[in-house]
Amino acid sequence: MSTTATRHVSPEPAASAASERRTAESARRRAPWTAILERLDDAADLIGLDPYVHRMLRTPKRILEVSVPVRMDDGHIEVFKGWRVHHDTTRGPAKGGIRFHPAVDAEEVSALAASMSLKCSVVDIPFGGAKGGVRCDPAQLSIRELERLTRRYAWEIMPLLGQDKDVPAPDVNTDGRVMAWFYDTVAMATGEAAPGSVTGKPLALGGTKGHASATSAGVFSITGAVFSELDMPVDGARAVVQGFGKVGSPLVRRLDGAGMRVVAVSDVGGAVYNGEGLDPEDLADHVALTGSVRGFVGGEGITQDEMWKLPCELAVPAALDNAIDECVAESIGAKVIVEAANCPTTTEADSIMQGRDIVVVPDILANAGGVTASYFEWAQSRQPYAWGEELASEQLRRRMEAGLSAVWGKADALGVSLRRAAFALGVERIAEAIVARGLFP
Ligand code: NAD
Repeated sequence: MSTTATRHVSPEPAASAASERRTAESARRRAPWTAILERLDDAADLIGLDPYVHRMLRTPKRILEVSVPVRMDDGHIEVFKGWRVHHDTTRGPAKGGIRFHPAVDAEEVSALAASMSLKCSVVDIPFGGAKGGVRCDPAQLSIRELERLTRRYAWEIMPLLGQDKDVPAPDVNTDGRVMAWFYDTVAMATGEAAPGSVTGKPLALGGTKGHASATSAGVFSITGAVFSELDMPVDGARAVVQGFGKVGSPLVRRLDGAGMRVVAVSDVGGAVYNGEGLDPEDLADHVALTGSVRGFVGGEGITQDEMWKLPCELAVPAALDNAIDECVAESIGAKVIVEAANCPTTTEADSIMQGRDIVVVPDILANAGGVTASYFEWAQSRQPYAWGEELASEQLRRRMEAGLSAVWGKADALGVSLRRAAFALGVERIAEAIVARGLFP
């Protein structure tokens, strides 16, 4: 793997031209499952994958579509659609989050499940890949409606669940409270207290210390390790972060604590800039009060496009999929990108950034801290024996650094980008397990 040699940022295009290009780009944007298949096919070519294993990985193991009828507070019954997908379970029980979102569909859930298979493989934890979702807008639901929706969805996908079969966790718009309802529903239905059947639970139910901030802790460990590989000092380095939610907010605090200057942060409401570095605590207080980083007095308002163009050492997309498209990639000012969000970079943008010698740490490695902490929680729940916070965070750091080292080694061996290497490594480990188990019957 070659190291970075950042080139000059290209001149800013006129706003209307940029938005026209963005529209054209999004029209060409690949569907999530197609994007995963392209990366899988590339990995198969790189490692000379056995064609039958390749065909197996191109097809999810199972897709369960369910109807989720829920009695709303006014008495009428709403019927939601939900899915649980297992992509591959050769290396262990299916593992993956549950998201509640209006845009969820079977294809998106399948792509995210495949990503989970690869993620678990890259950080070498004994799980297969799964994902689940319900198409709904949680912002429009009362707490009681949300609880009934969670419990009925859990009931509908119950045939797949179990601590040795399929272990759900939180994802977009779900949290420890939703996981507690989920766990209780599984326990009531099976008559068993099996805390290993769900992760991301509150501490009172056997959650692991540090789970809530494990993804940001993992992104932070990876950032430190990449900077060290590239001989770039962390102290004084400039960072921009898109997203100030469950991942972005604690990450900004960690980066600031390590001596980085987080010069810009954006969220759904806008972006703020301060060349001296934004104060993470003041920013968090402002967001808690107003709901957005917009209007923060400790910085000046800028657009998100302007934020991406800022010259800096690190950019972390921690919000949306496809946030870095061709347009952003051509002018992004960062030398290193660490993908905290799932699928934040389009395929075209990836090629552009490779051409610009920007080092991109792919999502399936960079944001694996969450599932790694889930693995720790599952292991503790199975024992049952609770680890202290220090042990949990030390184990997490080690796992993430080992993941980076394995991917970096693969990239060097194959002469490819970290993303292509991560996919190659992930597929290779799953393939090894498939071949070792043989084909049933
Ligand atoms: P979150 O909902 O807590 O926060 C999302 C943030 O993104 C918010 O600040 C929101 O305002 C911002 N955002 C939304 N739309 C935006 C837009 N158009 N422009 C700029 N900002 C926008 O979500 P999260 O849990 O922090 O997850 C962020 C990303 O990380 C997602 O892609 C998620 O799949 C991924 N991820 C999260 C975890 C986890 O442990 N939470 C684990 C792995 C991956």
